[in-house]
Amino acid sequence: MRFTRTARAAAAVLAVAFAATACGGDEATSASQSAESGNLTVGIKFDQPGLGLRNPDGSFSGFDVEVAKYVAGKLGVTPENITFKESPSAQRETLIENGEVDYIVATYSITDARKEKVDFAGPYFVAGQSLLVSSSNTDITGPDSLNGGKRLCSVSGSTPAQKVKDQYAQDVQLQEFDTYSACVEALRNGAVDAVTTDDIILAGYAAQYPGELKVVGEPFTEERYGIGLAKGDDETRAKINDAIDAMIADGSWQKAFEDTVGASGYPLPAQPTVDRY
Ligand code: GLU
Repeated sequence: MRFTRTARAAAAVLAVAFAATACGGDEATSASQSAESGNLTVGIKFDQPGLGLRNPDGSFSGFDVEVAKYVAGKLGVTPENITFKESPSAQRETLIENGEVDYIVATYSITDARKEKVDFAGPYFVAGQSLLVSSSNTDITGPDSLNGGKRLCSVSGSTPAQKVKDQYAQDVQLQEFDTYSACVEALRNGAVDAVTTDDIILAGYAAQYPGELKVVGEPFTEERYGIGLAKGDDETRAKINDAIDAMIADGSWQKAFEDTVGASGYPLPAQPTVDRY
């Protein structure tokens, strides 16, 4: 017992020592160091049309992909030297903490809970939570109309799922999947009545199935999308914030939006202001 405790204490001391090193700014996991070596691994979504999508030919497209490439360029890395890694909502903090990605651009809302584990540059976009239903549905018009046992799909580890659990869970049947595309399939099959997440994500699916799916109601949260990176990597965070500012200032931000999400009919929103916390 005593030995175990001593061993545990020793492990704790080592863990603190590692953590201290990791906070020093020169940590091995720094995205800036990866960029200096010429390569970056960037987390994106693979199944969100208009935002982060892996195409059948293996290429990647979407607004998040364009933001990821622009930022990489400012860090000195060309698009061919970016490896995109799928980053489902529930795995994003872990992927960053384990050093499996250098940064994540994946409809990733900046929240205080997440900031305990990772840091965020940005926001580079502000969206809001909404609902996707079948075009023929007339009774779901907003979050309150989910009362009475409606079957609602969202993604585990996402802010919308949490919001529903906190505010509507008593009267709604929440089903959580790993991805929004799985929710959209469930909606199309009639297995759920609605899908909830950010309006910009839902607009991409509605555009994929015109006449079959529609976005309803006004957005009922504010989702500030950040670029997630290792906690304490302030050097890279400052560089990424500069890159976002430059992307907005030189017109690339608006062009990227129009070339990607714009096709869904989602209106161009106000440009965000980077928050250098
Ligand atoms: N923006 C929300 C979040 O970060 C929902 C979208 C997503 O799950 O990627 O949780």
